[in-house]
Amino acid sequence: MDACGSPPPVKRNRQSPTDNEDSIGIRAVLSDEYNEIALIKVHSCQLETKQQLQSVIQELSKKLPRLQHLKRVHDRNVLICPTSDIGDAETLEEHLQRYAFSANVLRALCHQVKVVEVPARMPKLRVQYEQMIQHWPCKFHPNHYSESLRNGSNFSISQRIFHKRMAQLLARLSRDVNKDRPVGICVDPRQSSIVSIAGASESYSAHGHEHCSMLLVDFVARSQQGGALKSDLSFVEDEEKAETTLRGLPKAYYDYLKKNEAYQDLKFGAEVSRKCQPQQQVLLNADHSQGADNLTKYGPYLCTGYDVYLLQEPCLMCSMAFVHSRAKRIFFLRPSDNGALVTRFQLHAVKELNHHYEVFQFTTDGSLT
Ligand SMILES: [Zn+2]
Repeated sequence: MDACGSPPPVKRNRQSPTDNEDSIGIRAVLSDEYNEIALIKVHSCQLETKQQLQSVIQELSKKLPRLQHLKRVHDRNVLICPTSDIGDAETLEEHLQRYAFSANVLRALCHQVKVVEVPARMPKLRVQYEQMIQHWPCKFHPNHYSESLRNGSNFSISQRIFHKRMAQLLARLSRDVNKDRPVGICVDPRQSSIVSIAGASESYSAHGHEHCSMLLVDFVARSQQGGALKSDLSFVEDEEKAETTLRGLPKAYYDYLKKNEAYQDLKFGAEVSRKCQPQQQVLLNADHSQGADNLTKYGPYLCTGYDVYLLQEPCLMCSMAFVHSRAKRIFFLRPSDNGALVTRFQLHAVKELNHHYEVFQFTTDGSLT
């Protein structure tokens, strides 16, 4: 801003395909780890002398090794165990006797016992950490990427523009090509190149396999010489010896975009599938956390390393399909009543799954929805 006051108003061309770009935001859909940390009640005792410290800590960490995310001693106060560990009918001393502490340590642990409130888990963000150490000192491993997801600085300006453009494209393709039904786009983020586009068919609500996400996964497989679903659609054919393949793109969407002047700069096509040695396949299965790296190392395999853009939040079945096919990130525009990423469930936050994608939701002022 200059010294004279506010900057001049930005003139907008309402006809431009990016006319409502400023009205779109992108927010990461984060697991509960990013939310406020609960406090738990824990028994603590006060040591009489510093000499007791070593034996007390040694025995505690062997016999009651929980609370690892906390500093066990603070101002001569020692954390013993959560109050919830102790049964209704027993005292702390009776509880501790079960662990066969030495007489000296047991005496120390029962001296000036009180209940303190401490963080229930290790903080993930600095802001959580700063809040929690006011209660009790805890461990913390600062992570720049986690912070950036939280404050929205994880994308560069050009990445952000591209994602927003895909959001607009979803709305446009649904309206102009798929009779307002859901659509999805799969992109290789290394080249910002559109690998596949799919639209839910007319009977999609009755037939799960016709949900646009299921079709999208199948069309991505087509680009890798696979694909299991029978489709009446005609797909783009590759020219001989083409370096990338357009086989995952139904002609209706491709032709619409190719004809439209506003989309002339869009890139299309997937890297041609390399012949995967069985040995490489095993490696790939084992190392699913490094999606983009695997895509570069081994070439396309299912949705590994790919970004998926969806008009509608996917249902549980579709969200699982993206887990199985190892998508890197899912972006969606509109929540669904049966959505499994925000509305009913946070599938990507389920620790037990063997693959986790990141999830982002486009936020709009209503002009796109
Ligand atoms: Zn679905």
